[in-house]
Amino acid sequence: MTVSNYYYIVINMDNYHSDKESIAEKLKQAKLKVTPQRMAILFELVDNHDHPTADAIYQKIKKKLPSISFDTVNRTLVTFAQNGVIKIAEGQGGAKRYDPKIEPHHHFHCVRCNRIIDFTNKKYDRIELPENITKKHQVLGQKIVLDGICQNCKNKKDNNGRK
Ligand SMILES: [Zn+2]
Ligand SMILES: [Zn+2]
Repeated sequence: MTVSNYYYIVINMDNYHSDKESIAEKLKQAKLKVTPQRMAILFELVDNHDHPTADAIYQKIKKKLPSISFDTVNRTLVTFAQNGVIKIAEGQGGAKRYDPKIEPHHHFHCVRCNRIIDFTNKKYDRIELPENITKKHQVLGQKIVLDGICQNCKNKKDNNGRK
């Protein structure tokens, strides 16, 4: 892949793990214009496995780009999701959560702390689709969501109970 027109970006990205090329490539593949703000937002998201909310992304990004508004961050995330750059994780009664992992995967959701943990499972990827859905609608992907209490929350409860 050639690197062409995005070297004008002046944000310091030294403390990110991903490289500029791969981030810009994600935007280009989605036919989105590569802008410094989009780059910064996507950088913040790609190495984040917390399925963050728009606000969580905004809090981090404004340290690097103080002039950016929450609205811009929010609109950019929606644009990313609409163009397949990222996914929206199921909202569990709260703010929308964003997921940079677009490969098929499933979620374990903790009902106590709202943590969403990614996992993969080949069987879950191929669960038979219900006919009453496939007859009427086009299915683009399937994802299993397991609800439960995560290890951290479980341990907390144990400690409180015993000590
Ligand atoms: Zn938890
Ligand atoms: Zn995920």
